[in-house]
Amino acid sequence: MLRRILVLVTTTFATTQLSLAAIDGVKMPPNDGKLRIIAFGAHPDDCELQVGGTAARWAKEGHHVLLVSVTNGDIGHWREAGGPLAVRRKMEVQEAHKILGVQGVILDVHDGELLPTLENRRMLTRLIREWKADLVLSHRPNDYHPDHRYTGVLVQDAAYMVTVPFFCPDVPHLTNNPVFFYYADRFEKPNPFDPDVVVNIDSVMEKKLDALGVMVSQFAEGGANGSASLLPPEPDKQKARHKQVRDGFARRYQGVAEKFRAKLGDWTSEPAQVKHAEAFEICEYGSQPNAAQLKKLFPFSDK
Ligand SMILES: [Zn+2]
Repeated sequence: MLRRILVLVTTTFATTQLSLAAIDGVKMPPNDGKLRIIAFGAHPDDCELQVGGTAARWAKEGHHVLLVSVTNGDIGHWREAGGPLAVRRKMEVQEAHKILGVQGVILDVHDGELLPTLENRRMLTRLIREWKADLVLSHRPNDYHPDHRYTGVLVQDAAYMVTVPFFCPDVPHLTNNPVFFYYADRFEKPNPFDPDVVVNIDSVMEKKLDALGVMVSQFAEGGANGSASLLPPEPDKQKARHKQVRDGFARRYQGVAEKFRAKLGDWTSEPAQVKHAEAFEICEYGSQPNAAQLKKLFPFSDK
């Protein structure tokens, strides 16, 4: 375990000076005309929950997807915390990313302690620039968890600064501002989530459920609000718990399809057939795509 902790520390050291190309295991995409997508989540499960299905669809078509967890998830469990939990979280998301066919990075920020500082604004700006992103996704800044809110604020703060040459001049600025998107959430104040894009994820739903299923510390064990009773040692009870988690997630994305079925009609000729969906709203601060541009960014529409 000690060796694993040291590996985590060395690969996530000095995040404010972070260079994607220098992170072990990150393959910088070629300039091949495919889309370049960078998604930010506060914790090692948020990107996978919010955009895991769409990410798998992009990846299937050869587009380049990087999922970034802005904190390392090191307090998000009822029984354990610190380095060992951060390592466990990292190993779980790595397995999830293999299933989804995407790349991922976990930044070395303590869970529950993310702040919208200048250093963090620079860090996210550098990552978006290095990835040469066409699309950037994140939480809305009125989500329930402070790390979610500040991830949303930091991405909003980067949404113009990525184009400003003398902000972080150590990384070339983007000449085309990406399009920024928010994830779906249920919060109403000051304004509810209002999707511009609803993606049919039926074709990758099993993959997404498999990916969420390997994140045992987050879901089967219940994360920060879990307990020992959720995943007892008996194999039959464990099997039942894993099925319960899987069925619960299937219902969650059925709920998204149900809630936004009218909007699904913009994206598919048979919206009533769609069982599972993910939804995204355009942020006002980056590039503003027209309908045709939006369909190039989410190239899954049959209309
Ligand atoms: Zn989270």
